[in-house]
Amino acid sequence: MRNMLKIALEGAFTNFKRIFFAADRVTDMEMRKQISTLSVKPAKKVDEDACIGCGGCANVCPTNAIEMKKLASPVKLTDSWTKTEVPELNSLKCVVCYYCHDFCPVFLLYGEKGTIHPNTVGNQEVDVSELINQPVKISDDKLKVISQYLSDKTILKNRED
Ligand code: SF4
Ligand code: SF4
Repeated sequence: MRNMLKIALEGAFTNFKRIFFAADRVTDMEMRKQISTLSVKPAKKVDEDACIGCGGCANVCPTNAIEMKKLASPVKLTDSWTKTEVPELNSLKCVVCYYCHDFCPVFLLYGEKGTIHPNTVGNQEVDVSELINQPVKISDDKLKVISQYLSDKTILKNRED
């Protein structure tokens, strides 16, 4: 029992040194501030502003960790596309396979930062509305793979089963 207490106290002291005095490993200033004010925020997984709301990530997720939630105010992105929903990623169900990120069209088709990520997404620096108005060339092979994962009802059915 005394040994356990000693280990716990040593562990707490080591972490205290790491966080507040940058000993051993460095915790960045922003994180130190959040820890000291008890305001640590979970990392952002979806860039809702840059997401185009296609629902592809929710379709490919093998564990149903992503749900599309309706936007209070739909956003018109092009003459023919209005964003009506954005994804919400449930980390408790996520197995960090990166399918959502890798199949996000902003990344897959346009080569920009994906707008969803299982760890932390960051912010998109391009105007996605402008981006998706641009013509894009996709090889037939790529189209086949994308359409299979994004809309194949048998894949969706298997996942439900
Ligand atoms: S990384 Fe997580 S949320 Fe994304 S597709 Fe895989 S399991 Fe689903
Ligand atoms: S695949 Fe990308 S653009 Fe489409 S809903 Fe998911 S995050 Fe948004």
